[in-house]
Amino acid sequence: MPEIRLDSTPFTTLALCDCGWRELSGTRAGAWRCAAGHLKSVHSDLQAARTALNAHYACTRRARSTTHPRQAGSKRAGRPPTKK
Ligand SMILES: [Zn+2]
Repeated sequence: MPEIRLDSTPFTTLALCDCGWRELSGTRAGAWRCAAGHLKSVHSDLQAARTALNAHYACTRRARSTTHPRQAGSKRAGRPPTKK
């Protein structure tokens, strides 16, 4: 089973495979997605590709949840009138 490693810097992520394949991406999610495609097309390893794709989805979910912190709190219903 080929092994994928990710080498991250603050701005780029390099996906590396045992076979010597490497792909530069801007995000960890993108790197995992490239790795998934590589594992499926070159190594025909569907299980490893699925694992890499799950890592990709985990990264995109994490990115989405931190991108819009205000949206959750902005849809506040009208406050009940304060009693005097
Ligand atoms: Zn490979």
